[in-house]
Amino acid sequence: MSRKGPALSVRATILTVWDHRCAYCGGVADHLDHVVPRAQGGPHRGENRLPACSACGQAKADRTLAQWIADIAATGSIKDRPVRLAS
Ligand SMILES: [Zn+2]
Repeated sequence: MSRKGPALSVRATILTVWDHRCAYCGGVADHLDHVVPRAQGGPHRGENRLPACSACGQAKADRTLAQWIADIAATGSIKDRPVRLAS
């Protein structure tokens, strides 16, 4: 039995620490997001992962958290989704 990626205990720990809340909007988290996306070389480890709801995950997409915040700031648009960590 071998598997890649974080152990279930890491996922459970992250969700518990965040009280199953999306780190970006405070909604109900349904997955763990990569703060630095895998597409940009982000590691698949706990320190690069935050709980997120599907709406925030889709809005952030393959951007880093810094890129997402910068895009929201540059456009002045919140249509992307509010980012609680930015406030
Ligand atoms: Zn969210």
